[in-house]
Amino acid sequence: MNDNKVARIIKRVEEYLQNPTPDLLDDIVKILKDYADKPACPSCSSRNVVKNGKYRLKTGTLQQFLCKACNQQFTKNSIESKIRRD
Ligand SMILES: [Zn+2]
Repeated sequence: MNDNKVARIIKRVEEYLQNPTPDLLDDIVKILKDYADKPACPSCSSRNVVKNGKYRLKTGTLQQFLCKACNQQFTKNSIESKIRRD
C-alpha cells in the first residue's frame, strides 16, 4: 500500500470517528476493497500496481496489472496458477 492510500484511509477513518455516517464507512470499505483486489507483483512483491486492461479468453476475461515499481505486467490468474503449481 503506498503512502498516499494509507493517508487517505487514515483521513477517512478520522472523519468517521468525528462524524460516523454510512457514506464515510462506505468510502473506507471501498478504498480497502480496492486495495485487497490488487495482487502483489510476482517479481518484486510491490503492492504499487495498477489495473492495466483485460485479456479476453474463450473462458472469460483476465484482469491485467502493471507493477509501477518494476514495470512488470502480469495477471491475477497467472499468480494463482503459479501458486498452485508450486
Ligand atoms: Zn514489481
